[in-house]
Amino acid sequence: MKVIDECCCECITQNLNRTKASCPVCNNEGVTVSRITVEHLVTDDYRNAVDGDQYKICMNEDCDVIYYNLDKEIKFLKDQVRVPIWFKKDADPKYACYCSKVTEDQVI
Ligand SMILES: [Zn+2]
Repeated sequence: MKVIDECCCECITQNLNRTKASCPVCNNEGVTVSRITVEHLVTDDYRNAVDGDQYKICMNEDCDVIYYNLDKEIKFLKDQVRVPIWFKKDADPKYACYCSKVTEDQVI
């Protein structure tokens, strides 16, 4: 990740702080998740790529990024995780309509 270094004032720190927490793609502020969570949810192909101790999760439904670690410059996209992520726009419809379309009678 490119670090801005030509500035000499506080904006460096502010910029770094924001960069640390925000999604590298959409700049939405991420929610912290542990590495274990990420290891469990990425597909087998990507498990070995999980590095670093702490990840952020991007909650922006329009964004393809699910997990990211800015220190390691790692990000996992929607198609790199095993399960549809419920808050992402085009998650599997089975999950999306789970509660609204299926009545209790049908379930029983
Ligand atoms: Zn994002």
